[in-house]
Amino acid sequence: MGSICPKCCSTSIIGRFYRFRGLERRRGTVNRAVMRYIFALLLSLLLAPVATAQVWSSPDGPAEVTDDEQLANAQDAFLAVFYHEMGHALIDIMELPVLGLEEDAADVLSVVLINELWEAEDSEKKVRAAAGFWAQSAAEWAGSGEAPDYGGVHSPDERRYYTYVCLYYGADPEARQSLAADLSLSEDRAESCPDEYQLANDSWGPYLDELYEAGKGESLVWVEGQDEDDPFVAMMKDEVDYLNSILTLPKPLTVQVTSCGEANAYYSPSDVSVTMCTELADWMLNGESADM
Ligand SMILES: [Zn+2]
Repeated sequence: MGSICPKCCSTSIIGRFYRFRGLERRRGTVNRAVMRYIFALLLSLLLAPVATAQVWSSPDGPAEVTDDEQLANAQDAFLAVFYHEMGHALIDIMELPVLGLEEDAADVLSVVLINELWEAEDSEKKVRAAAGFWAQSAAEWAGSGEAPDYGGVHSPDERRYYTYVCLYYGADPEARQSLAADLSLSEDRAESCPDEYQLANDSWGPYLDELYEAGKGESLVWVEGQDEDDPFVAMMKDEVDYLNSILTLPKPLTVQVTSCGEANAYYSPSDVSVTMCTELADWMLNGESADM
């Protein structure tokens, strides 16, 4: 993918407060207890070095995770990465100022979009899935024996995990205390999360408002001919249709799900496109990529 100058998602494998812009939020699907168990499992791998973390564990032991639930969880994580790539796209297309690391700004947008485009129950599933993805990625990286890549453009996976947890919690702390506890958000960090979300919303909000105010359109351009029987492709097609129904970007943005040779996702400024890799979907669904 070197020729497209990608902005990739991963170095490893892959009132006022809580303002809502009057959009109709979306609904999705999945059993919360199952998601909690998945997270407990992943966090137990991830957070052993985090001395202060209280890792949630199920009093009932392992829960049954159906194929449908596993798929829905993977789709949620895939969507969170797409929203991250939308962050890169908006920064480029709208020539936005980035007062910090762009990769972090893109993660922040991902949380803002999850929070404001989805109803509470569904947005929580998506944040749990996204955080779980970073936990799993961190665990895999740690298992490889390699040191974290502190010299890379991305924040370490563990930090990205807490970006999702903290900001999402901070958007509605009263309603999300159990989520914060489940996902090992420390009390110290939790204290600042409402202000962190407020700042995130104030930073991205005016630019998102421009897109919403432009009304519906066809600025997200779906690449035709994709296998829409594939559940990740179908989900992305649905997302593109939804976003086109509520907003218009200042210039067309192409979106496709295709094989890239690695579990990743990219925004390409040269052709203004987002590419979501099928290998990333495989990895999220099965913990491995068949094509890698
Ligand atoms: Zn990125």
